[in-house]
Amino acid sequence: MIDFHTHILPVEIINNLEKYIQKDTTIKALFKNPNSKFSTAEFLCEKMNEQHINQSVVLGMGWSDSGLNSFVNDYILDSAKNSLGKLIPFTGINPPDLKSGINEALRCIESGSKGFGEIHCDFQNFNITDKHLMAPYMEILEQYKFPIVIHASEPVGHLYAGKGLTTPEKLVKTIEDFPNNNFVLSHWGGGLFFYELMPEISRSLKNVFYDCSASPFLYDNKIFEIAINILDSTKILFGSDFPLMEPSRISNEIEKLSIDKKQLDNIYWKNAINILSQSNV
Ligand SMILES: [Zn+2]
Repeated sequence: MIDFHTHILPVEIINNLEKYIQKDTTIKALFKNPNSKFSTAEFLCEKMNEQHINQSVVLGMGWSDSGLNSFVNDYILDSAKNSLGKLIPFTGINPPDLKSGINEALRCIESGSKGFGEIHCDFQNFNITDKHLMAPYMEILEQYKFPIVIHASEPVGHLYAGKGLTTPEKLVKTIEDFPNNNFVLSHWGGGLFFYELMPEISRSLKNVFYDCSASPFLYDNKIFEIAINILDSTKILFGSDFPLMEPSRISNEIEKLSIDKKQLDNIYWKNAINILSQSNV
């Protein structure tokens, strides 16, 4: 099984949260609640063993502070190198950083990054529909056939820490701007998959995958069957959002449903392998 959506942080940040909350608006928004959950790479690997997850994609969280972004990127890359293939590193980008942001992205690719994200445009204070701003990153990704993971927001419903405003309307604009890139939209794309029932939208979104991270916090369990029906199981990725949610919480939900083995294999690992094996490095 492959979990396409997990987050890890170095002990230095977990132990000195107050200091980092002052530095970075994303940390502040996500972790000011004293009950927030954290995971180091070691803790994630223990959970993976316990819950029979073979590989996890470890993502950034959309840091707004460039120093913090590089620091966590190094941690993600080093942890992946030491994990004997269990952790797949995706590194954070910070487009408002202009030239130095692009240099950081290139540095990460050279150090083994397999994709960018999770980006969180609202925390990072940039407009994802700004084609000019996004283009350098999308060109790097296209060159290596690496995906970008974008935090997507439901345009309706309850607010939660980090919900944001990256709604389906904005996502479609960005995806149409970069038709040759692979996209992974977190949290069911904020509901965007429903609009794949429109033929022109489904054509535009042919390179888009959706992860089900944090799904039980957002949707009724029926969403898995509905999404398979609308999209086909080949566009859905198993993702938890660990440590926010344990992978088993989501797999337990899925296994209550009558989803056949072939579709489950697609969601649990085959689609992930498909995306990750497209890369030409
Ligand atoms: Zn997210």
